[in-house]
Amino acid sequence: YVAKRTQRHLVRYQPAFEREVTERLDLDQALRRALARQEFRVAYQPVCDLKTGLPVGAEALVRWERPGVGLVSPAQFIGVAEDNGLIRPLGEWVLREACRQAGLWRASGLGLLSVAVNVSPVQLADPGFTGAVEAALTDFALPPRALSLEVTEQVAVTDLREAGQRLSALRGLGVRISLDDFGTGQSSLAVLRHLPIDTLKLDQSFVRDVPGEPAAQAVISALLTLTAGLGLHVVAEGVETQAHREALLGLGGGAAQGYAFSPPLPPDAFQRWWLAQMD
Ligand code: C2E
Ligand code: MG
Ligand code: MG
Ligand code: MG
Repeated sequence: YVAKRTQRHLVRYQPAFEREVTERLDLDQALRRALARQEFRVAYQPVCDLKTGLPVGAEALVRWERPGVGLVSPAQFIGVAEDNGLIRPLGEWVLREACRQAGLWRASGLGLLSVAVNVSPVQLADPGFTGAVEAALTDFALPPRALSLEVTEQVAVTDLREAGQRLSALRGLGVRISLDDFGTGQSSLAVLRHLPIDTLKLDQSFVRDVPGEPAAQAVISALLTLTAGLGLHVVAEGVETQAHREALLGLGGGAAQGYAFSPPLPPDAFQRWWLAQMD
């Protein structure tokens, strides 16, 4: 009976598995072509001060404008790009594009805008990465303080000390380091003590239940105390509603990002949004 069951399972499982492998190979090829054909775009999401509501910066988020398909979310291709190495050239393209755009905006009335760029562990492990960051800053005349690099705890999974050294070298350039998606990983507190970071981005899972749930409020309160003690800035992610915004402000504030302020926008719409806030 067991053998029969296993067999039946195999018969059903095999075609699906093959289909998955084929789809993955197709995606691999399509992504390589997409980079060559310049099908990637960068969307910008405002980061705002909770108290004033005024924007203080932007996060650069990559999208793939796939012909015949439409906008493809990074969740669907970053993993593949990390596995096949394409994240190195793709990540460098996003970095340079975001620095170019931020340099233009700063020169054209968007004031003290700073831009955050997501960095994959694969990029951070690349010995050439610091040089690429330095080149992007120089080429687009962006002050290092106006760039922050977002990494997740994933960078510290294989070697916490090595990751710390690489981030210190980057910080030596004058750029800021943010720890993204904080609270979704495993060794959060050790990472906090040992990585040289400026900003902690609280994952949406901490933020979601804050309105009306005392336990969620207690966790946020404790995290705000912790980050203040460590001298870190805080950005709350996934602030979707006015209720989220008010609850967070009541607990101590900081900066926030989410649909309550604005979704990620194409560059021209972002610029219009920013200028309208300043009026
Ligand atoms: P992330 O860095 O944590 O970015 C925040 C994500 O939350 C974005 O998803 C953003 O659109 C979404 N978001 C913003 N406000 C809200 C809200 O109020 N509610 C909810 N539910 N979501 C909100 P997106 O753009 O799909 O990006 C997903 C992830 O893909 C990013 O998460 C980041 O880890 C990765 N990613 C995006 N661009 C890049 C990139 O250029 N390089 C690398 N390595 N990863 C990237
Ligand atoms: Mg991020
Ligand atoms: Mg995040
Ligand atoms: Mg996230």
